[in-house]
Amino acid sequence: MPLNLIINLMKKQDVDIVFLNDPKNVFYISSYRSDPHERVLAAVLFKDAAPILFVPALEENDARKTAEGFDVISYMDTQDPWTVLANNIKERYSSLSGWSIEKDFLTVERMETLRKHFPTATFNHNISTALQNMRLIKSEKEITFMKQAGYWADEALKIGAGTLREGISELEVVAEIEYQLKKRGVAEMSFTTMVLFGENAASPHGVPGDTKLKKNQFVLFDLGTMHEGYASDVTRTFFFGEEPSAQQKRIYELVLAAHDEAMAAVHPGIKAGDLDAVARTIITEAGYGRYFNHRLGHGLGQGVHEYPSIMEGNEMILTENMCFSIEPGIYIEGDIGVRVEDCGYVTADGFEPFTNTPTDIGAYLKLID
Ligand code: MN
Ligand code: MN
Repeated sequence: MPLNLIINLMKKQDVDIVFLNDPKNVFYISSYRSDPHERVLAAVLFKDAAPILFVPALEENDARKTAEGFDVISYMDTQDPWTVLANNIKERYSSLSGWSIEKDFLTVERMETLRKHFPTATFNHNISTALQNMRLIKSEKEITFMKQAGYWADEALKIGAGTLREGISELEVVAEIEYQLKKRGVAEMSFTTMVLFGENAASPHGVPGDTKLKKNQFVLFDLGTMHEGYASDVTRTFFFGEEPSAQQKRIYELVLAAHDEAMAAVHPGIKAGDLDAVARTIITEAGYGRYFNHRLGHGLGQGVHEYPSIMEGNEMILTENMCFSIEPGIYIEGDIGVRVEDCGYVTADGFEPFTNTPTDIGAYLKLID
């Protein structure tokens, strides 16, 4: 249980109170998921009193249903949330000194407000790193959600492949994918859906527009869906046409080899940087190293910007149930862009992907059968 782990840590570090206001951390610790926008949403943890889940009044009922073991406290828009929260904390503890806060998330403005309400407190401890490390290792339940998100990402690729025809625009393909997914009950994508034709795919962060599809082009799909608060993320580069050119074939096969070799190299104990090197060496030795201009992968969970980072120089040792992407690419400006990406988790002896869409250069034809 994440909550117990944090409480143990508080005892070790002599911390009296942990204040969380990153909605992702609040969800992780309380199971209550919400996007509060500018309002205050917080989980407040104590060593030996029930934790508080602090929410806007309009969320009180939802929060009560979800956050077992938490004292749900709410405030109206007409109240000052910080005064309500401070009074509730002071009711539980008359003297509080050591606070642990999210130094990567708590704004200076909120920090100053807390200081005003608790003038004798110290805010020296940082809970962010501990939470990042805990969130690195996914539970069985989290992995089940991520597999389901992956299933929908595979479905999205199938829908996308089905729309391809000469003259369709990138944005029309995006629209069709998201429309069909929503009709099937998928409410949310995990990031802006990317569909790029031909040379447009040469920018790893390209933006879909009104470019029309031509025969014998690559089509790069990079997309993901959310399921129960967890993300998927997959990239396929489909060949649309009769016969790829020698250059198209060469670059595609190279990226695919880097993807496959890296995936096969995953096992508990390998360092993140060494995994990046497996893929990068293949592309570099073939002479395309400078066109693989990003890290091999990133962590995945509630979002696509988690740890571990699969990049050169990262000494982190990968262990079971860490989740991340493997996504080598080659991008030659004005010419061609190819990336193949799967996310998955480290198993006892390898890597299990969340997405299973075929990766060979003829995959597009299989999907539209
Ligand atoms: Mn992606
Ligand atoms: Mn990715």
